[in-house]
Amino acid sequence: MDFDLIVIGSGPGGYHAAIRAGQLGLKTAIVEKGEIGGVCLNVGCIPTKALLHVATQLTSASSMKDQGVDFGTPDVNLKKLEDWKQGVVTRLTGGVAQLLKANKVELIEGEATFESAESIRVGEKSYSAARFIIATGSSPISIPGFEVDNERIVDSTGALVVSEVPKRFLAIGGSAIGLEFADIYSALGSEVTVVELMDRIVPSADPDASRELQRALKKRGLNILTGTKSVSQKKVKGGIEVTLEDSKGEQSTITVDKVLVAVGRRPNSQGLGLEAAGVETDERGFISTNENMLTNVGNIYAIGDVAAMPLLAHKAMKEGLVAAEHASGKPTAYDTIVPSVIYTNPELASVGMTEAEAEEAGHKVRTGRFPLAASGRALTMGVDGGLVKVIADEETDLLLGFHMVGPQAGELVAEATLAIEMGATLTDIALTQHAHPTLSEAIMEAAEQAHGQAIHTSNRQPRRR
Ligand SMILES: Cc1cc2nc3c(=O)[nH]c(=O)nc-3n(C[C@H](O)[C@H](O)[C@H](O)COP(=O)(O)OP(=O)(O)OC[C@H]3O[C@@H](n4cnc5c(N)ncnc54)[C@H](O)[C@@H]3O)c2cc1C
Repeated sequence: MDFDLIVIGSGPGGYHAAIRAGQLGLKTAIVEKGEIGGVCLNVGCIPTKALLHVATQLTSASSMKDQGVDFGTPDVNLKKLEDWKQGVVTRLTGGVAQLLKANKVELIEGEATFESAESIRVGEKSYSAARFIIATGSSPISIPGFEVDNERIVDSTGALVVSEVPKRFLAIGGSAIGLEFADIYSALGSEVTVVELMDRIVPSADPDASRELQRALKKRGLNILTGTKSVSQKKVKGGIEVTLEDSKGEQSTITVDKVLVAVGRRPNSQGLGLEAAGVETDERGFISTNENMLTNVGNIYAIGDVAAMPLLAHKAMKEGLVAAEHASGKPTAYDTIVPSVIYTNPELASVGMTEAEAEEAGHKVRTGRFPLAASGRALTMGVDGGLVKVIADEETDLLLGFHMVGPQAGELVAEATLAIEMGATLTDIALTQHAHPTLSEAIMEAAEQAHGQAIHTSNRQPRRR
């Protein structure tokens, strides 16, 4: 055998797996057909967050007029912004390349396809290994009639290159990727419309949280059309005319300068030669795995976006560690609680169950809510919207879910993630001192509110729908 382990794909899942395998003494190789770091570092998490950082600064600066500070019209140098964003990406991907080297992971450049369950082909060469980890990620889904040309009609990768600010920007898809780009382009000065097929944005989130985010984004001037389908588009003088259809079947048109298609992603499981290795996928193309990330073939693992939803980098990373440790014969357990964050301004962060999911799972549900309008810290930051909602089991008091819309929600979700992971109750959270004044007090007060003990808000529970 050439290697103990070959990892296919160097995104967050793959590079975590390879580094851990190297640390554990496995003779390891990683195959990459594109750029080291995968989607997340090159065209996903990192470059979007760099642009969103700038977007949030722009939005915050313009909102400071209420506090008596006027920074005037911002002068955004798009070339410099692009160079800075790419600089962040290059620094991180370079760091990963060094870490792989430091952990004696051999990098094989090219596209891997399985020849059998024991070997892969990359270009002209075959490589054998005792074990494989498939970490090939996912790609954007397209919609018929909206073929991506990465000029007028872009996918998330095309939208990352802001060579000019379109006057009118349309995002098809009102979940994380669509909303994050809507936020970026709105902050840069575009008139933004978001079209979402379902009756609310972020349909996977708790309805209270998605409604609160929708309200906040609308207040910022984004035009959000829910229950609306994008039917077709054509080039017209002065832009792209998009035909929309509402839930009653009524059609209308909107003319814009750029369209982002962000309606989801599909697993990269095709063209990998999975048949030659005997690896099975489900009907959507995800590679099915067990709790050790092993596929139906005893020496082949699958992790990250190619393995299952949710398509999140930190889930891929943890799965990479699980697979590498299992492959080395030294398995450790990791928790399966996956937080998720939409990095708009304000942010939406959640972990655990929604209210409906908790009920479906058979829990007698207790909820607690705290509006950020009642938070001293939020008011000192000029924030008057947003909420924290906690969901717990009424009998055991165990925290089951946490949903927040507000500034720094993506940081604050860590408290709830740890609480769920450690089996904390609402009482544990309520009794814990939270520094004053901080946004984290809202988590404590939401836990208190669930028990009718909140100090700064009404303890009345909303009527159950
Ligand atoms: C715009 C955008 C923003 C995002 N923001 C966030 C965020 O803020 N937070 C978050 O958690 N997630 C975010 N995500 C999702 C995140 O990027 C993915 O969940 C994550 O990258 C998945 O990691 P992975 O290791 O499974 O695969 P990927 O990162 O997709 O990497 C797979 C790698 O495998 C390589 N590959 C594929 N096939 C082969 C082959 N046959 N041979 C060799 N190499 C191959 C690819 O070239 C690629 O480099 C975002 C995604 C997008 C598109």
